[in-house]
Amino acid sequence: MHLTVWTYEGPPHVGAMRVATAMRDLHYVLHAPQGDTYADLLFTMIERIPRRPPVTYTTFQARDLGSDTATLFKDSVQAAYERFKPKAMIVGASCTAELIQDDPGGLAEALELPIPVVPLELPAYQRKENWGAAETFYHLVRALAGPQAPPPGQQRERSPDATPRCNILGPTALGFRHRDDVREVVAMLQELGVAINVVAPLDAAPEHLARLGEADFNVVLYPEIADTAARWLKRTFGQPMTSVVPIGVNATCDFIREVAALAELDAQPMLERHQSRLPWYSRSIDSTYLTGKRVFVFGDATHVLAAAKVARDELGFEVVGLGTYSREFAREVRALAKDMGLEALITDDYLEVEQRVTELQPELVLGTQMERHIAKRLGIACAVISSPIHVQDFPAAHSPQMGFEGANVLFDTWVHPLMMGLEEHLLGMFREDFEFNETAAPSHLGRYGGPSAVDSPEPAAPAALPVEPVPAGAPSWTPDAERALGQIPFFVRGKARRNTESFARDQGVSTITVETLYDAKAHFSR
Ligand code: SF4
Repeated sequence: MHLTVWTYEGPPHVGAMRVATAMRDLHYVLHAPQGDTYADLLFTMIERIPRRPPVTYTTFQARDLGSDTATLFKDSVQAAYERFKPKAMIVGASCTAELIQDDPGGLAEALELPIPVVPLELPAYQRKENWGAAETFYHLVRALAGPQAPPPGQQRERSPDATPRCNILGPTALGFRHRDDVREVVAMLQELGVAINVVAPLDAAPEHLARLGEADFNVVLYPEIADTAARWLKRTFGQPMTSVVPIGVNATCDFIREVAALAELDAQPMLERHQSRLPWYSRSIDSTYLTGKRVFVFGDATHVLAAAKVARDELGFEVVGLGTYSREFAREVRALAKDMGLEALITDDYLEVEQRVTELQPELVLGTQMERHIAKRLGIACAVISSPIHVQDFPAAHSPQMGFEGANVLFDTWVHPLMMGLEEHLLGMFREDFEFNETAAPSHLGRYGGPSAVDSPEPAAPAALPVEPVPAGAPSWTPDAERALGQIPFFVRGKARRNTESFARDQGVSTITVETLYDAKAHFSR
């Protein structure tokens, strides 16, 4: 076990909570000590859901450990059933409760409740949150849809003139823009002519999961959560599943083609009708902010795989670093990194990620809440693309990541931080100007707007330059050289620093002065 002050994923029972909280008429009884009720706050404070998660904790205390915790668990299950009247229940243990080995599944079964009770075995010391969500969803699907499975070897017949139907699998509570993605994908599928059988787990009740087998195919939105269940549905009901996640314009078009092929429909009219603003914006004047920008990408596998391709193929960025904390999908991320000439960073240690970002000095970081902190500390522009996320990543406005509208959102959220960098640079450059200094009134108010800088004898003091991180082993900079570097526009400053340091290293210079900076400039402009 690795002790840390911050983690990309919680324990697997938090994944089970994400599934339970997303669904309706499902209740989770969690054998857990008093302190573990903290997990409720993730949903009420970060996602701002207007109700408590449907979870009953046994909340045993230290003094209970010497007595009968098994009876405490059974009483909690019975009381939760009577109070909440759910249509199905899941039962399991948190990390700490796993150690007392009370067998929640067996104890709940002994109560013989008149609803399905699904036991969860989530090994907290080997696995994490997304795996816990996937395992919970899979066991629920198996328990509730399983009784409707056709006999082995027999498949459901689809009438040729019936409207094709699909399930949408994977969205949960506390997911990055899951609710908005579902709205976008449902609209796309309906426009294509596909009916939605069930969306799950988000907003699904147990009886909806029982109907999953009635669809013709499954749309897997988030493989970390839905892949295991979708594979079981494929084996049991013969339902094919999608492989493309529609993030970015290219992937959205590929997704429409893939779904159309599964549904035996024509994708062309819809592809011709639809446009995102992303391709034109990224070719237009805004490309000043985009072309060749060095980008570091880190997060869950679904979003990292999509973001790296969008960054390279649709925005003209150079991906200089790529990694994930989703160990279950490390193979896919490694393959894409190799295709981009990189070595993937597979880790759940944010300190390793911070070190890689410091070494690479990208101009933009696309990551999680943690990379937002790292980038902010290092003075690098950043946009959030993946869980774990913070309260501001649950915006009030519709902000999907998927579909054509999602591509517009990607453009706005990834490019604006780069523009802000440019604006900050311009503000810094003109800070000492008589018209723009801090005591100057707005120019349209002329002399009547307050004390004017034109009348002010003393110019404002220059602002301190931001100090950029220096990687270990790099030549040092004199204060004058740092100041001269600070005069170089923000959007090329990183490149100027790297070029000067590589020039200094080639020349055997250990301290960079203003002269070294100009020599390097002359060298590279030859
Ligand atoms: S023991 Fe497990 S559930 Fe309790 S606080 Fe630690 S990680 Fe969370």
